[in-house]
Amino acid sequence: MSITTADVVVIGAGIAGASAAAGLAETLKVVVLEREAHPAMHSTGRSAALFSEIYGSAPVRALSRASRDFLYSPPGGFVEAPIVRPRGALHIASAAQIAQLDAFCALPDIGPAVRRLDSGETHAACSILRPEYVVAAALETASADVDVDLLHQGWLRQFRKLGGDLRLDAEVTELSRSGGGWRIRTASETFHASVVINAAGAWADVVAMMAGVRPIGLQPRRRTAVVVPLPEGQAPDAWPMVIDIDEQFYFRPEAAGLLISPGDETPSDPCDAQPDEWDIAVAIDRVEAATTLQVRRVKRSWAGLRSFVADRSPVVGFAPDAAGFFWLAGQGGYGIQTAPAMGVLATALVLGQGLPSELAEAGVTAETLSAGRDIFAAQSEKAPAAE
Ligand SMILES: Cc1cc2nc3c(=O)[nH]c(=O)nc-3n(C[C@H](O)[C@H](O)[C@H](O)COP(=O)(O)OP(=O)(O)OC[C@H]3O[C@@H](n4cnc5c(N)ncnc54)[C@H](O)[C@@H]3O)c2cc1C
Repeated sequence: MSITTADVVVIGAGIAGASAAAGLAETLKVVVLEREAHPAMHSTGRSAALFSEIYGSAPVRALSRASRDFLYSPPGGFVEAPIVRPRGALHIASAAQIAQLDAFCALPDIGPAVRRLDSGETHAACSILRPEYVVAAALETASADVDVDLLHQGWLRQFRKLGGDLRLDAEVTELSRSGGGWRIRTASETFHASVVINAAGAWADVVAMMAGVRPIGLQPRRRTAVVVPLPEGQAPDAWPMVIDIDEQFYFRPEAAGLLISPGDETPSDPCDAQPDEWDIAVAIDRVEAATTLQVRRVKRSWAGLRSFVADRSPVVGFAPDAAGFFWLAGQGGYGIQTAPAMGVLATALVLGQGLPSELAEAGVTAETLSAGRDIFAAQSEKAPAAE
């Protein structure tokens, strides 16, 4: 069997693998190996497509800030249409949740990014919210819907244009050290590369174990999305995305209906996640409690995996215990909105360069994301919206 050599082999062609591969292909010979026939088959093709600079842990928020310019003004020729479409994000609180809303707004990078709304203003922003349920909210106006397919395909197109080699239906089944680099096997081919990038999404720890590298304790968590019809006469396109401050549910307009989610985080093995009837019922129940909506039927539903390490920030960098093994994992519920900065950071670190200045200015530090940090320290269950 012949061996294909490359500088870098990327495992996984989701948004993470695609953004890093496109950056690295400018200077290196890069091969991307994707198990599925379709590169957006897993988390990347199942997201709620939100861009928000105030969503997630502090390191995630910094990565999102650093991604903003690319999403709003991509380089010429990258895509043929806008990647983002502005949509406010309305973080709502019931009377019992005011303390959480206050704590959220008190965070130094969140306060200036939101406007506090009272009950009447909140109702004016989204007319189906029940005034007796929602007593206050914080509105982020700089958030947006992301055209995930456009963004993902933009990077894959750029990768191929730069001579990158994307193999679909190419599951990596064996990984071993060889000649100062890595030997990577699929069912039909063998590759050799100095660097392996582990961008395998929910399977990142499975890939690490295959390589004899210490896992990072990645926990995939299932999240459900449901699209329900709206009553005649509703014109919701201007509505913001509405997010319960404890992320017990969220909803936003989606193609003549409403996308709703119960904000579930059910631990799961890595798999082709499927929606559970119970989670669909919980989503409907919580949205009906907060709004005047009466859901009679479900148009469609799906589920996907959001994969976290204990401190809920991504892991980007070389493994401390295995030369040439690079982690690009743990993006949780933020892998779309952070992908531009994650791709730039991964490219710089693989090339042995320092932290790019635009990332440093946005508050990104390589240490808080590194595979060498104490990843197992902060065990937390589902965190409040901002942490
Ligand atoms: C319901 C839901 C809502 C979300 N909402 C948002 C949101 O609003 N905003 C946001 O930014 N993010 C959101 N996310 C999170 C976002 O979708 C993920 O963080 C992101 O898609 C992760 O990308 P990835 O490339 O790491 O993973 P994936 O897209 O899963 O890609 C990993 C790829 O690796 C491949 N692979 C695995 N093992 C192997 C192997 N052995 N050999 C070859 N290939 C392999 C898999 O087939 C897969 O295609 C949401 C996720 C879900 C599920």
